Amino acid sequence: MHIVSKITELQLNHPFKIARRATDAYRQVFSVELDGGIGEAAPALFYGETVQTVATALETIAPALEVTKLDAIQDVMADIETTLGGNYAAKSAIDMALHDRLGKKLGIPLYQLWGLNPQKTRYTSFTIGLDEPEVMAAKTRHAEAYPILKVKLGTPRDIEIIQTLRDITDKPIYVDANTAWHPKEAVRKIQELARYGVELVEQPTKPGDLVGLKFVREHTELPIIADESIKRASDIPALAECVDGINIKLVKCGGLLEARRMIHVARAHGLLVMLGCMIESSLGITAAAHLTPLVDYADLDGNLLIANDPYTGVTLDKGKLILPKRPGIGVQPRRNL
Ligand code: MG
Repeated sequence: MHIVSKITELQLNHPFKIARRATDAYRQVFSVELDGGIGEAAPALFYGETVQTVATALETIAPALEVTKLDAIQDVMADIETTLGGNYAAKSAIDMALHDRLGKKLGIPLYQLWGLNPQKTRYTSFTIGLDEPEVMAAKTRHAEAYPILKVKLGTPRDIEIIQTLRDITDKPIYVDANTAWHPKEAVRKIQELARYGVELVEQPTKPGDLVGLKFVREHTELPIIADESIKRASDIPALAECVDGINIKLVKCGGLLEARRMIHVARAHGLLVMLGCMIESSLGITAAAHLTPLVDYADLDGNLLIANDPYTGVTLDKGKLILPKRPGIGVQPRRNL
């Protein structure tokens, strides 16, 4: 079996900050090539993974992989799930490489492999990281090319931030509190945010506090989207009454196969679906973008926040995700890097 792996340091265009984490200047991603297919993991310490744990997981998984059986992605991933607990970012990199490999082998892009209409991709939101209100305003001015903003909140100045941004833009705004608020504080702030034309609120409260989420949902009008509270399809039934939608990320759930399962389970529960990302290269972002014909919201801007993207893949037309037509995920190494 031909397996090559690599750790890449992605340099951020601007230092990036959210409610619970200090400013970052770079992020590490782990990429793997598996019999011609490529995949990437952008592990998050919040979910207990680093590029080192991903590397170790891959070493554990690799000996059991047999080239002749790789087409049956469902089986491969089920086997991995029984031999290795957790490690969902690592599993996502392998799942992604398997999908890329199969698409390339069949000569078709992933969206076609799944029978999806590439015209029905979504417009991605563009993230404005936490900072002083005037700095966030400057970032918003620089984000002119993107028609939807996702604003990170979770500070004593939340309302002031939104007021400042509303003074300079009438674009749709999603708000992400990244678990920062107490339920009553969330209700108070969301009622206020609704007056500024905010369209939805992501993860207002602590991840394990489903009662808190439900309280917020019942006392506010804006759609409440769970992110840190939801990882995999099996989490959905318990959450379905507490929120209006879920944010699916490949590194949380373990890859494209589980992400598709989650979308269908979420729909069966009447939930909205957002497809999100970490800060990752165009490899991970493009893989996720192939699923966007199935979802309501795309927040796939991780590749737009980095200065040294090793790949080209999905592009944007006034914010709308345009999928590459090449086989598999469809990314190519970027020249002149
Ligand atoms: Mg989020």
